[in-house]
Amino acid sequence: MSIQTPNIPLLGFAAYSGTGKTTLLEALLPKLTEAGLKIGVLKHAHHNFDVDIPGKDSYRLRKAGASQMLISSRNRHALMTETPDSEAEFEYLLTRFDTQKLDVILVEGCKNIEFPKIELHREEVGKPWLYPNDNNIIAIAADTSVESELPQMSINDLDAIAQFILDYVAKGTTKKVAEAACCDTLSPAFLSVQQGQDKILAEVSAVQLVEPTHIAQSYGRILGHSVASPVNVPQYTNSAMDGFAIRSDDLDRAEYQVVAEILAGYSYDKPLEKGQAVKIMTGAPTPEHADTVVMREQASAEGDMVTFGDAVIKAGQNVRQAGEDLALGQTVFDVGTRIESPEMGMLASLGFEHCDTIRKLKVAVFSTGDEVQAPGTPIKPNSIFDSNRFTIMGLLEKLGCEILDYGIIEDNEQRMVEALEKAATEADLIMTSGGVSVGDADYIKLALDRLGKIDFWRINMRPGRPLAFGKVTGKPFFGLPGNPVAVMVSFINFVEPAIRKMQGEANWQPLKVKAVATEPLRSRQGRTEFSRGVYSVDEHGQLVVKTTGKQGSGILRSMSEANCLIEVSPAVDTVKVGESVTIIPLQGRI
Ligand code: AMP
Ligand code: MG
Repeated sequence: MSIQTPNIPLLGFAAYSGTGKTTLLEALLPKLTEAGLKIGVLKHAHHNFDVDIPGKDSYRLRKAGASQMLISSRNRHALMTETPDSEAEFEYLLTRFDTQKLDVILVEGCKNIEFPKIELHREEVGKPWLYPNDNNIIAIAADTSVESELPQMSINDLDAIAQFILDYVAKGTTKKVAEAACCDTLSPAFLSVQQGQDKILAEVSAVQLVEPTHIAQSYGRILGHSVASPVNVPQYTNSAMDGFAIRSDDLDRAEYQVVAEILAGYSYDKPLEKGQAVKIMTGAPTPEHADTVVMREQASAEGDMVTFGDAVIKAGQNVRQAGEDLALGQTVFDVGTRIESPEMGMLASLGFEHCDTIRKLKVAVFSTGDEVQAPGTPIKPNSIFDSNRFTIMGLLEKLGCEILDYGIIEDNEQRMVEALEKAATEADLIMTSGGVSVGDADYIKLALDRLGKIDFWRINMRPGRPLAFGKVTGKPFFGLPGNPVAVMVSFINFVEPAIRKMQGEANWQPLKVKAVATEPLRSRQGRTEFSRGVYSVDEHGQLVVKTTGKQGSGILRSMSEANCLIEVSPAVDTVKVGESVTIIPLQGRI
């Protein structure tokens, strides 16, 4: 995710505490203002920090309950806004600046947010470099030099740093950070999660065949063409209430003669005359000219006459117009829509018994490894039961795939080649688990070498670092890691988006939301960390998240206990209690 900055340049300073960010900024500001820049500064402070002074009027009024306190004098004004539930978003804070009157916004802190930054580094602080893992770093100011393509300055050369900022502002660099991000900062043997996803998505394409599908069997399928409404919805103008229908050019009468009673499913086929009313039920068609309905509760009927007392009647009230929800010919669903319960009902409501869906994706699954044994067989020494194949089947089932189960293929090159060749003729996609680690001697690699072009990637993530992807005689192939949790995390990040694209689903994005960490999260700079998490809503209505505990990638139970993955980006090393993190809810996905 990247920040679209306001219409002026935004530049941050990234450093570990102790590097002297504020001191440096304090020394830089006079140089920048002298050069004519008008500068806004955004500083992130600890949660118990207060700018106000106890005892001052503004402080007393705030404490007395002002949730926004604007204090103004001849020389300055300040707006203090209480945010008891959650910290304001970075992008929102940027909008608080009057950018008409500024040339640049400098940011101190906010290290987990993506926007261009200068890395400040002092050897004596003894902390690692940030730039190899943070694509947002556009320059380095340090007391030593490093091998990097990035512009470098001495941290003690204020003029050079000031000049860099002046040049940066002159260039008007407000473009998205993501575009400026450079992949070369990563060692070529490694790929980021995003790079892996992009490469995979570029290689797979949607299955083309569509087939007529009965709507009762359409759950989870993808529409192969767009659907236009063959009717008006509602089909005829009808009453939205139980009551009495009258004419809107006849509202001022004291009483009306009730000429008919219309139940849903019936109609009154004569035009309504002035002075007349019909008793009408919800959903029943309104007769010609009867364009206004008075609800039953406001009416008193006696014999065949009805009066409405002092009810205020608006012309046209309580009537649903034909085509009001959906006009004849209007597009209801676009091609690529996944059919779920509302779509099934909606298709039925339009009278469709069948719809054209994209053929089910056929996915071949097998496991490898001499230690892997089918459940239901007596356990042998040094063996484990094959769990991955079944986890994968569940994940595929959820996505509405047709599963071709090839079982466990013994560690034998010829057997592997045969299995892969068969899978490539029968399936649209082939998936295995295990045997893809770098240095692994498994036969699957030899077999893959003979049949296609497969890349063995090391993804900068945990768990799930090894991942093989490529084509076996033209069919996409995924070699997932062997560890059970890594299988699921890799599937969610790489396989699911590819499957959805191959199924023809349009516009799918995984749901990611922010939650506040209630325990510190360990991570390591340079890789994306996926912890198994449990999110909940706390007593303030804030979404909070903790981990499931021990995070070993063999602990499949942690996946069962989790309701989300916590995603900590490569630029972050630790997440403290109270900091906001990205979570990927798992409900509906696994
Ligand atoms: P590998 O990537 O083959 O080195 O496997 C990594 C770990 O995952 C090893 O502990 C394997 O025993 C385990 N593993 C491999 N395949 C499976 C499977 N199908 N089910 C459960 N665990 C597996
Ligand atoms: Mg193995």
